[in-house]
Amino acid sequence: KQDGRGIFRFFEPSLDEAARRRRRLELDLRIALKAGQFSLDFQPIYDLKAERIGGFEALLRWHHPERGLIPPTEFIPVAEDTGMIITIGEWVMREACRAAADWPPHVRVAVNVSPLQFRNSGFKTVVLQALAYSNIAPQRLEVEITESVFLDGEDIVVSLLHQLREMGVRVALDDFGTGYSSLSYLRSFPFDKIKIDKSFVDSVASDPSAAAIVRAIVDLAAALNMETTAEGVEDEDQLARLRGQGCSSIQGFLFSRPVSCDQVATLLGTGNERMVA
Ligand code: C2E
Ligand code: MG
Ligand code: MG
Ligand code: MG
Repeated sequence: KQDGRGIFRFFEPSLDEAARRRRRLELDLRIALKAGQFSLDFQPIYDLKAERIGGFEALLRWHHPERGLIPPTEFIPVAEDTGMIITIGEWVMREACRAAADWPPHVRVAVNVSPLQFRNSGFKTVVLQALAYSNIAPQRLEVEITESVFLDGEDIVVSLLHQLREMGVRVALDDFGTGYSSLSYLRSFPFDKIKIDKSFVDSVASDPSAAAIVRAIVDLAAALNMETTAEGVEDEDQLARLRGQGCSSIQGFLFSRPVSCDQVATLLGTGNERMVA
């Protein structure tokens, strides 16, 4: 009577292995915050109009005691599935604002916020507390959300977005153009910025279709009074093209990789002249 199950037994070891790995990651993640294993890197966003660094995006790093650095693309989904992203995200918000308090007042900080965290009822309080605790002007904080935040219903999200904006906090739409993009979000809410996904930026200088899409996004954003940041700019050809198309700012390895908090000061001291030449 066990014949049918025997067929599946062949696959079990690898399934078990994947499940075990995942469970291990989950358990390790549960103690990571208390154990002080998280840190933030900061990647500059270079303002092409002002020709200087306009802000930094906070990027979460997990230093696993045995596995070393684990990329956010691996652990953020686990943190989202388990709900841990809410406490982790709260830590990120506080640390990012605290770091920004040491920077010149024209330099903003951008913080990635997961849909679950954003839709959590305590999110607004988290933002208010981080601002109060760090004493930075709300205008210096930019919350980055992706379109997936709208998946489970738009109303509550749009209402919170308006509340954030009334507080003076800026809102950016991250990874624009990926997934199930819909222009209706741009109509429902006045974002301050659209971040053009790296997948378009990659071939903006080599593929006329990608160039046309980037141009369309930049023009659309300008017409809607929104700024644009091109993500993942890696070479001079891309930069020249983006500049020509009127993109407001760029972010990518060409200007700088994400750096530690300590290196931010160095970048702010010397980094501003780098792109002018
Ligand atoms: P994202 O918000 O779109 O962040 C940009 C990602 O692109 C970062 O990867 C950054 O290091 C990388 N990047 C920047 N410039 C270049 C470039 O020129 N070339 C290449 N190849 N990559 C570039 P990272 O730090 O691994 O983060 C990946 C994603 O993880 C982020 O994408 C964001 O969705 C998520 N994430 C990171 N930190 C947090 C956080 O604190 N909270 C939440 N909810 N998500 C986060
Ligand atoms: Mg982002
Ligand atoms: Mg992005
Ligand atoms: Mg991205």
